[in-house]
Amino acid sequence: MKAFDYHQAVDSEQAVAQAVRVSGAEDMAKYLGGGTNLVDLMRETVERPDALIDVTALSHAIDETPEGGLLIGAATTNAELAGDIRVRTRYPMLSRAILTGASAQIRNMATVGGNLLQRTRCAYFYDMATHCNKREPGAGCDAHEGFHRYHAILGTSSSCMATHPSDMAVALAALEARIHLRGPDGDRQLPLTELHREPGERPDIETELRPQELIVAIELPRLPMAARSGYRKVRDRASYAFALVSVASMVALDGGTIQDVRLALGGVGTKPWRAYRAEEALRGQPATEATLVTAVDAELAAAKTLPDNAFKVELARRTMIAELSRRIADARSGGDA
Ligand SMILES: Cc1cc2nc3c(=O)[nH]c(=O)nc-3n(C[C@H](O)[C@H](O)[C@H](O)COP(=O)(O)OP(=O)(O)OC[C@H]3O[C@@H](n4cnc5c(N)ncnc54)[C@H](O)[C@@H]3O)c2cc1C
Ligand code: SF4
Repeated sequence: MKAFDYHQAVDSEQAVAQAVRVSGAEDMAKYLGGGTNLVDLMRETVERPDALIDVTALSHAIDETPEGGLLIGAATTNAELAGDIRVRTRYPMLSRAILTGASAQIRNMATVGGNLLQRTRCAYFYDMATHCNKREPGAGCDAHEGFHRYHAILGTSSSCMATHPSDMAVALAALEARIHLRGPDGDRQLPLTELHREPGERPDIETELRPQELIVAIELPRLPMAARSGYRKVRDRASYAFALVSVASMVALDGGTIQDVRLALGGVGTKPWRAYRAEEALRGQPATEATLVTAVDAELAAAKTLPDNAFKVELARRTMIAELSRRIADARSGGDA
C-alpha cells in the first residue's frame, strides 16, 4: 500500500478545507468513511490517494425536516440508518435494502456517504494484472470476453458494463432522495438519480461530484406511499452476496387503477436504476398482470446482454412482476409491505 497522510475532520467545513489544502497541484485526497471499500482498494493499489480525510466524526443525526421527511447525516452508519424506527416504519424499503447488504460487522462500520460512493465489484477492476477501462481509460475491458455473469444489462457501453453495487442507493433512487453536498465553491443539492453517471466512453468518471465535494447529508422527502414499500434482492446465496437482481418498489392504488408507483432496480444497471419507462407505463393503468408485463417489458427492452448475464433479463422480469404484484396486493389489503 502506498504511504498516505491521515487527517481527522471535526466538521464538514474543516473536511473540505483539508481536502482542498492537500489536493494541491499533484496531491490527491480522498474522504474516508468506514473504509470498508476504500481501504481494500488502497491495499490492491487500485486507489492511491496521498491523503485521507476521515469524515466519520461528522453528523450521524437523523432529523425530521419541516416538510415531513428525514435528513440523514452522511456519517450515519448503515446499521444506525437501517435500525431507525422512523426509517423502518415510513421507508421500510430502505431499511430492508441496507439489511440485505454486506454483514452486520461491515454495516456497523460503513457510512451512508461511503455506501453511495463505493466502487464496482467487477473482479477485473480489483485485479491490477487485467485490462480495465474504469481503472485506466483506454486499456480495454477484460469482462467483455471474460467473466461477466454479475455484470449490468442496462446503461452499459462498449467501454464498461460494471454493475453499481449499492443496495441502499437503489432504495434511495426509488424514494427520490436528494444528496446535500458541500464543496470549495459552496453548498448544492442533487437528486440521487443524478449523482451517478452511466459509463459511456469514460467509465472512470462515475459521479457528477466536483473536486473535493463532500456528501454531508441525504434527504428523504415525505412520501406516504413509501410506508408500504419493499425491497427484494435475488442473489447466489442467502446472505453476504451482491445482487443479481434487486427491486425496490411501492404502489398507490385508486380503486383498481395504479395511481402512482416508484420502481428502481439493482444488480442490472451501471448505476442505481430508476425504472422510469416502467413507471410511465404503469401510472393510470388497471392494476392487472397484463399491465405489469407490458410495463416491465418496456423497461427491459433496452437491455444489452452477453452470454453469461443474459439470464438477468428474465430474472429481472419475474422479480419485478412478483414485487409489483405483492405491492398491489398490499395496497388492496391496506397491509404492510
Ligand atoms: C464483503 C463485503 C460485502 C458487501 N456486500 C454489500 C452488499 O451486498 N450491498 C451493498 O450495498 N454493499 C455491500 N458492501 C459494500 C459496503 O456496504 C461498502 O463497502 C460500504 O457501504 C462503504 O462505506 P464506507 O463508509 O466504508 O466507505 P469507504 O470505504 O470509507 O469509502 C467509499 C468511497 O466513498 C468516499 N466517501 C466516503 N464518505 C464520503 C463522503 N461523506 N463524501 C464524499 N465521499 C465519501 C470515499 O472517498 C471512497 O471513495 C460489501 C462490502 C464488503 C467488504
Ligand atoms: S466492466 Fe468496467 S470495471 Fe469491469 S473490467 Fe470492464 S471496464 Fe473494468
